[in-house]
Amino acid sequence: MSIKKNKSISIITTLLIIISIFYFINNSNSIVEKSNFPLLYEEKINNMINQMTIEEKVGQTCQITLDAILQKDSNGKLLDPHTIDQDKLREAIHTFKVGSILNVSDRTFTLDDWHMKLEKIDNCTDEVPNTIPIIYGIDAIHGANYVQNSTLFPQEIALAASWDTSIAKSMGEVTAYETRASGVFWNFSPVLDLGRQPIWSRFFETLGEDVYLTKTLGRKIVEGYQGNFPIGKDHVAACLKHYVGYSFPKTGRDRTPSLIPQRSMEELYLPPFKESIDAGAMTIMVNSGDVNGIPGHANKYLLNDILKEKWGFAGFAVSDWEDFIKLHKEHRTDSTIKDAISTGINAGVDMSMVPNNPEYKTYIYSLIELVKEGRVSTDRLDDAVRRILRVKAELGLLDGRKFDKNYYKDFASEKHQKLAYKSAAESITLLKNDNDILPLMKEQSILLIGPAANDLNILNGAWTHTWQGIDKSYNNNHPTILEQMKSSFDKVTYFEGSRLYMKNGDEADTIAPDFKRAIEYADNYDVAIVCLGELPSTERPGDIYTLDMPDEQKNIVKELNKKGIPIILTLVEGRPKIIRDIEPLCDAVIQTYLPGDHGAKALTDIILGDVNPSGKLPYTYPKYNGVIMTYDHKQSELINGNTWANDFYEAQWDFGFGLSYTTFEYSNLEIDKKSMSSNDKLTISIDVENIGDVSGKEVVQLYIQDHYASITPVLKKLVRYCKIQLEPSQKQKVTFTLDKKDLEFYGIENKWISEEGTFSVKINNLSKDFYFKN
Ligand code: BGC
Repeated sequence: MSIKKNKSISIITTLLIIISIFYFINNSNSIVEKSNFPLLYEEKINNMINQMTIEEKVGQTCQITLDAILQKDSNGKLLDPHTIDQDKLREAIHTFKVGSILNVSDRTFTLDDWHMKLEKIDNCTDEVPNTIPIIYGIDAIHGANYVQNSTLFPQEIALAASWDTSIAKSMGEVTAYETRASGVFWNFSPVLDLGRQPIWSRFFETLGEDVYLTKTLGRKIVEGYQGNFPIGKDHVAACLKHYVGYSFPKTGRDRTPSLIPQRSMEELYLPPFKESIDAGAMTIMVNSGDVNGIPGHANKYLLNDILKEKWGFAGFAVSDWEDFIKLHKEHRTDSTIKDAISTGINAGVDMSMVPNNPEYKTYIYSLIELVKEGRVSTDRLDDAVRRILRVKAELGLLDGRKFDKNYYKDFASEKHQKLAYKSAAESITLLKNDNDILPLMKEQSILLIGPAANDLNILNGAWTHTWQGIDKSYNNNHPTILEQMKSSFDKVTYFEGSRLYMKNGDEADTIAPDFKRAIEYADNYDVAIVCLGELPSTERPGDIYTLDMPDEQKNIVKELNKKGIPIILTLVEGRPKIIRDIEPLCDAVIQTYLPGDHGAKALTDIILGDVNPSGKLPYTYPKYNGVIMTYDHKQSELINGNTWANDFYEAQWDFGFGLSYTTFEYSNLEIDKKSMSSNDKLTISIDVENIGDVSGKEVVQLYIQDHYASITPVLKKLVRYCKIQLEPSQKQKVTFTLDKKDLEFYGIENKWISEEGTFSVKINNLSKDFYFKN
């Protein structure tokens, strides 16, 4: 009896072994097949993992901040200049075997500083044979913004307003190059969170409210960062942020809960990430907030089932700042930090941005214990390490590839600066231009006023030289609006008008001492250029109470208007501030977003007509604080309970809106079939003609509308766009192709479906219907 039992046990064991070998082969093959970046080093990495101790593996999953290894004084303050503490460095690399370092604290280093620091880290690695090099990560989000004198581009919200994929790619390429020039291989960018909550402090870091625009531009930024495989000297690994649903907090405040139904997740929030994973993005950063009550770092479904299993993501997921600790302290899903680490790693986070000292040591001790106790399996730990080593291998970090600091001759070159200028010039958006007041002539006398008129930091926004972007000590040698206008116009007089300052951690406004004088002098000028804006800020320090433009700033427009002087309102803002009451008092309105170091020049060239504006809003500019709607709203959202008319959607300006100094006429909207079936492609064409006097660029935007559907349909959905340039009288036929995928939505049974029925294609003011048969 017992012999029989033993026999059957051994048969079962053999079967289990065979099944698991099968499972392993299938599983590992599937990731190799599915992965969107080549997995060329699997054998080498597996051999490494087989020889690594638990301590070495756990160390790889640990990311510390540079501050954790810097020298401090007896009060715990960092020594100035920031200097690496050799003992702390050795302890981190050799005792705790950490896999990654990030960031820089409240300053920007020169290229030489960066080289010195990274060489120190490299040399320390080399002291002990077989030590795995760290991967250094940085937030280079609009250029290499932590390297002194680098090329600074507009922020993402402005890039999106260019509606130009080549601009997005060139921002990616230049940023990658200049980041690599400093010796850093990994960039925590792009942000692919959708900007559908304008009060959110990180709205400016997004590519706007639309999923298709974000998808297409995001992919190009990633292509720009990473280039082709194998990743060369000019490129860095991208890190998609912040997976997923971070940008839609119910309260608008950073890192507070979002409520996102499964359908919106599938249709809106996930696709930009999927698109960039398909483009080969090698890393991803996790959402620090919670969605539907589940913190991003505990969401196994999103991290493991969707990202890794379904999409075949073979790279690694890094936590956001202290987010395992936050599972315990803020989200309160875990009663101890150790439990939180177990939750995070088991959910699928591969690297923990712990990142402080001594917290990182606690992390390492706890994870070692968790593995020994079996609460985190060796398989899970190996999987995380394998993913991290894949990225390191792909970047050449495991081949002893040494950094060639003399290679980067193009750092901050004229060529790079020109690209940054072009990005600013093509994103600035003309929102109003009554009686063609713009462009101005250089002989016209200008009264320049407002808190954004003489401040380079306000043009750049946060993540510029420092995290919050306020410090002026590292500013590049680029002009403010005042400085640029003084050199471009014959007569410019500047008044501050109102002043922005920090009060108890929040932005406050006050009337400047020269305000009264400015109003008195207004009669002496042909035109007033009023530059309103906000102080740079991001994340929690950037939380605000209202989207209203502060009264102190609006008063400038109101008082100038009483004097009858024409007003050109220039907005320098990361999120749309409500200006309903002052807009009618202005003759022109220009949205510059956060245009970066070259913003003043680009703006001035537009005001003078040397550049014809071609930016289009990547979001719906709200008119009221209480009615925040996106362009892709539904019929029921239009019904006005006062009039019962369908007019409740009242934006200040629509998504996709932007004027030019010329006029484009749209005609001959054609579709190649009246009825389309599942396997068909639908070709849509339209003629666009420049009927004005100057050359200009136009963004041709194609929307579709599904007339009736089992899930309430939106009235308009962007499906294609392209930017074209037309000379006066030039006409161009623009052609787009759609297929069934463009008509699909996430149906009642939680699957993507298409439904038979009538659809409209809409371009500009023209529309054509077709019938879709499944
Ligand atoms: C931000 C991330 C950033 C990280 C590292 C976090 O606070 O949410 O976007 O990449 O810090 O600086």
